[in-house]
Amino acid sequence: MNVSFLTSFDSESYIKMGRAACIDALPILPALRAILGLALWSHPQGFRNEDLADADGTDFMLDGTRERTEKVIDLYLQRRVAVTAPTEELKVSTLAALKSAFTEACQRRMVQIDKIAADFGIKKVSFGLSVPSDSSSGGTPYEAVGTCASWFSNPMIVCNPPRMNIQVDPEAQVSSEQKLDEKDKEFVVAHEMVHIAKNHELIANVSYLAYSFLAAGIWAAGMKSGLTMGSVLCTYGAALGVAIPFELFFYGLKRSQEQDADVEAIRYLGTNEGAKRFFEGMKNRGIVDDLEHPPIDLRLAYIGASA
Ligand SMILES: [Zn+2]
Repeated sequence: MNVSFLTSFDSESYIKMGRAACIDALPILPALRAILGLALWSHPQGFRNEDLADADGTDFMLDGTRERTEKVIDLYLQRRVAVTAPTEELKVSTLAALKSAFTEACQRRMVQIDKIAADFGIKKVSFGLSVPSDSSSGGTPYEAVGTCASWFSNPMIVCNPPRMNIQVDPEAQVSSEQKLDEKDKEFVVAHEMVHIAKNHELIANVSYLAYSFLAAGIWAAGMKSGLTMGSVLCTYGAALGVAIPFELFFYGLKRSQEQDADVEAIRYLGTNEGAKRFFEGMKNRGIVDDLEHPPIDLRLAYIGASA
């Protein structure tokens, strides 16, 4: 054992190292997150992948043309849909039928999304299909990026289609494990449009950026008071004193935005039917609550369905 190394590793240098690591991490990480969030908000088209042949598990923008939609659907079929059939011929014809059906559905969806966007006063919204290459089941069916200020950002709605396992029975027709329902999809699109129309992402990102400056200021102030254990503890204490209320505020803000989007979407649609079906479906699939959304039982309660 190298004793001299241990004895030379005194508390002063430990404090220096610890402080340097914290100074690097604490103010900069949230700042980076906020800057990335702002970049995403102002330039969602930065995620556009121009060459689908080079694309690998990223988001694909659809421009409304049939050709592009077909290319994206091809990638979705390759990566997310498994077809089992007794013969190769049956498998090929099943994939061709799926491609045509999904392309039609996607084209129709873009028209519906444009209509709902216009009703919320959003001039133009881009539509993207996310085709993750990994085998995980994926997150939300839709997510929205951008603000209603289209002169500054390009509002975008991204669809994350589910992974599907399709078994072809030669006696019967194609069957799929997922039956899609129009009403709950309308609800999800309207919910995402409220986020865009009310600039929810911008508000959340600006709050996060403000917090980063506050945290950075406290660390800078802590730096002035010298390298003693007491001042390090004071700095940690002050940072925690800022971080804890902020985290509570931030997740409170995110949850109230979600509730706002749910309630406004139901008001726009004039029915809670789609919302009820969507949240009940989430509950039945065992989707776990997260920090940024109200718990599913609470959402069912305030949309007027029994929890
Ligand atoms: Zn939402």
